[in-house]
Amino acid sequence: MKEYREKNKKRISELKRKWNLKPINIKKKNEYMKEYNQKLGVKKHRKEYNEEWRSNNKEKLKEYRELTEVKESHNKRQKHYRSQNPEKIKAQNMASYYLKIPKGQLCVRCNKRLAKHKHHEDYNKPLEVIFVCDSCHKQIHNTYSSCENCGEEKEDVRYIDHHKEFMCGDCYEKD
Ligand SMILES: [Zn+2]
Ligand SMILES: [Zn+2]
Ligand SMILES: [Zn+2]
Repeated sequence: MKEYREKNKKRISELKRKWNLKPINIKKKNEYMKEYNQKLGVKKHRKEYNEEWRSNNKEKLKEYRELTEVKESHNKRQKHYRSQNPEKIKAQNMASYYLKIPKGQLCVRCNKRLAKHKHHEDYNKPLEVIFVCDSCHKQIHNTYSSCENCGEEKEDVRYIDHHKEFMCGDCYEKD
């Protein structure tokens, strides 16, 4: 475990350094899009811009994804070790034995997707759960999930009611 942590730390700081040298600059991206728009003289859908931008920044995105993945696996491991607590295990066992998610039950958080998870707000109350979808559950526990607009795995993806979409902060701000 210690060895893994050391190795992981090194890898993250290595990637971070690399990343900091040439960050994806949102402003620059917008400028690029503007320029691209002027050149073509046509209005294109945001998704097409994103694709064009992405194909021109493949390397950066690859690095970014790599960094995200390393971070995520690190978080998962940490969470796993932290999660080995008896209350949690007991609560999960009781819930899976006594509570069934009703067929067709929608997520109580977004009211959009089917509920596939039982979330305990308090492990000391093992039979009190809320039924949530995968994305909302990830959001509750602050793990990464994918943005329906840009397709990236982000930490801050949340359900935006008036869009009826799960969006990351960047996409939401641009809107
Ligand atoms: Zn949901
Ligand atoms: Zn949960
Ligand atoms: Zn996004």
